[in-house]
Amino acid sequence: MTEGRLIVCATPIGNLGDVTQRVLDALSSADTIAAEDTRVSRKLLARFDIHTRLEAYHEHNTAQRTPVLVDRIASGERIALVSDAGTPGISDPGEFLVSACLDAGLAVEVLPGPSAIITALVASGLPTHAFYFGGFLPRKAGERTRVLESLATLDATLIFYESPKRTAATLAAIAQVLPERQAAMARELTKLYEEIVRDEVSSLAARLAARELKGEVVLLIGPPTGEKPAPDPGEIRARVAELVDAGSSRSSAVKQVAGETGLGRNTVYDIAHGG
Ligand code: SAM
Repeated sequence: MTEGRLIVCATPIGNLGDVTQRVLDALSSADTIAAEDTRVSRKLLARFDIHTRLEAYHEHNTAQRTPVLVDRIASGERIALVSDAGTPGISDPGEFLVSACLDAGLAVEVLPGPSAIITALVASGLPTHAFYFGGFLPRKAGERTRVLESLATLDATLIFYESPKRTAATLAAIAQVLPERQAAMARELTKLYEEIVRDEVSSLAARLAARELKGEVVLLIGPPTGEKPAPDPGEIRARVAELVDAGSSRSSAVKQVAGETGLGRNTVYDIAHGG
């Protein structure tokens, strides 16, 4: 029996022509393919006439399936891991299986290939000297604002995955914290309706609010340019509180701080109220 191992296989994010020869060889010769969605992977296998047995490994069965797969690899099975699209382990449960195999001292081989992060970053035209991948932003407004505030001064392009339905709302939320940054929305990469829209965050938010987006989306926010430092939310809150303590009404304090910082009144209001 061949030595057991986990073979992490990157698969196309749209265009099936992007699959590598090494991945096809690994999928053909593996004992089993663990797939995030067997129906999705079956299409890829059918296209390349591969008949290896498929089994499900997804976010709802990781706790139960991970130890079973680890045991089977330990006893000599070669298990290929694929996700619905792109590189397993990036925003999908692949990371748990990789980590469990490494903990058990088993061989893990990663066959590189497509990932939406890198494709979107390069296609966006935004700086690539440093980038931060934040997965999916939290859905709760307060948590999302806190994450964005914590990233406001990072000298890196910020990259987030997002669903098409939430893209406009998420961009509007980003515009509250980083309104003047250069940004891009990359949609349907490598597919027929691929689209990259570039603009300042606030303008991009306004443009996309008027559209019903479909397909898969990556959002990218450029680094601070250095001309205008990103506003420090703590200082803004403190300045509003100072004016209110000195007798201003809350709305005139917000108006004054908007004038002092060049931010929109709604932005100052939201920051002052911790939203
Ligand atoms: N493992 C995958 C990878 O390496 O890119 C990502 C898995 S994550 C669950 C799925 C998200 O990736 C989608 O919601 C979308 O944000 C992004 N994505 C995947 N394919 C894409 C494509 N063709 N165009 C734009 N974004 C894509």
